Amino acid sequence: MDSLQNLLEFNKSWAERVRSENPEFFEDLSKGQHPNYLWIGCSDSRVPETEIVKQHPGDIFVHRNIANLVLHSDMNSQSVLQYAVQVLKVEHVIVCGHYGCGGIKAAMGDEKLGLIDNWLRNIKDLYDMNRSDIDTLPTEAEKVNRLSELNVQQQVHHVCENPFVQKEWADGRELWVHGWIYNMETGLIKDLDVTVGKDG
Ligand SMILES: [Zn+2]
Repeated sequence: MDSLQNLLEFNKSWAERVRSENPEFFEDLSKGQHPNYLWIGCSDSRVPETEIVKQHPGDIFVHRNIANLVLHSDMNSQSVLQYAVQVLKVEHVIVCGHYGCGGIKAAMGDEKLGLIDNWLRNIKDLYDMNRSDIDTLPTEAEKVNRLSELNVQQQVHHVCENPFVQKEWADGRELWVHGWIYNMETGLIKDLDVTVGKDG
């Protein structure tokens, strides 16, 4: 319980600090949000999007799940995507995976984990499709990292296929979809250069 109480104490001191630096901060934010970015990332606790790209509350609309998947059958991610592009009018959708992803590792193995096996099925399929390339890599870590990159690329593709994203492009709006990957060993993000825009 002590550690939970700490969180509430930390929250109090954080709110006081923010208010002392910018007395209108919370009042302004409470009026509405106008984020320019939608971040689709992994639930992994080591990849806190707002912190690693030095943004503030209100700057990034966020969807995170295990292994940063954007599945057409998943109403959660599809709803977030629709709201972000159609209502919030974000200019950039960023799919950001990370090296050493536990979800990717699990998808490459044969261990039965329960419900999550269904979720990871899509990554298993992606692995099967690219097995001849991935399995030539010498180490387990390199294989996981390569599949992590391929997974980001595939999710970028899925975002681009979303009908609401397609509609924004058909209307001629500036909307970009990016694929990034985060390296936990260095703290650095690599752009996978798979950006798609209205002419893409
Ligand atoms: Zn992960």
